[in-house]
Amino acid sequence: MPTEIGNWTVHPLETGDFRLDGGAMMGSVPKVLWNKTNPADEYNRIDLSLRCLLLENGVHRILVETGMGSKLSSKFKYMFHVVQDDDPLTNALRKAGFEKNDITHVILTHLHFDHSGGATETDQNGEIIPSFPNATYFISKRNWDAGMNPNPRDRASYLRENYECLMNSGQLQLLDDDSLVVEGISTISVDGHTAGQQLVKIQDSGETLVFVADLIPLKSHLKLPWIMGYDLNAQLTLKEKAVFLDQASSKNWWLWFYHDPASVMVKIIKDEKYFTVIEEIIREGSTQES
Ligand SMILES: [Zn+2]
Repeated sequence: MPTEIGNWTVHPLETGDFRLDGGAMMGSVPKVLWNKTNPADEYNRIDLSLRCLLLENGVHRILVETGMGSKLSSKFKYMFHVVQDDDPLTNALRKAGFEKNDITHVILTHLHFDHSGGATETDQNGEIIPSFPNATYFISKRNWDAGMNPNPRDRASYLRENYECLMNSGQLQLLDDDSLVVEGISTISVDGHTAGQQLVKIQDSGETLVFVADLIPLKSHLKLPWIMGYDLNAQLTLKEKAVFLDQASSKNWWLWFYHDPASVMVKIIKDEKYFTVIEEIIREGSTQES
């Protein structure tokens, strides 16, 4: 189900699904409210997707985010109820008609394991190497520093094996806040979730799509006070979300969800209280009503 944004073809790469604690995902929102939109399983976990975005325009083949990757132990998969192929990125790319070697740019919004896991893989000798031999990897300077010296509060989400080798392979390009990657593709820096997270904005021929990553992980988080308990600074997330969603609604941007199990992208308008979805593209095969 590829979509066009100007001259860019946009492919959703579904690399897998997993589950996290519903209360931790919804912060101060009571379960009686969130359980209606994001029903919990017997361990109180809710469904999340790992929907990477592939952009191509005949010159560049840009991958935003890399899923969990292929280095997971069975214990890890069990804990997070990870459901994915053995080599999820290879399979998802092939469905779209590409190979890992074709990728020219990899943009990571931040280095938490559910976003950067597929950036590296294990070779036949057991060594960890970059998964995309021909790509430059773009990470924000400030998030790279956070990944190398994590805050005690989100330390468990930063696993060096997912990114450390990029430095030595010479494929790493560290970005300042709000940078241009290639013409039409830029980053928007936000800090409430973790230091130096970068959203990715694709702008071409009057159309705009933003990969909203963990600023707005699920469609439910379009409601301003719905903020993850995982965020380092919930008050800052609230402010960043309010500013961002105002812009997104007044400028008619598409918003791309990485973690929403059913909703791929939406357009919104501001109503008296929050923001209402006015257009939506649903995941192929999903039965969830919009
Ligand atoms: Zn995430």
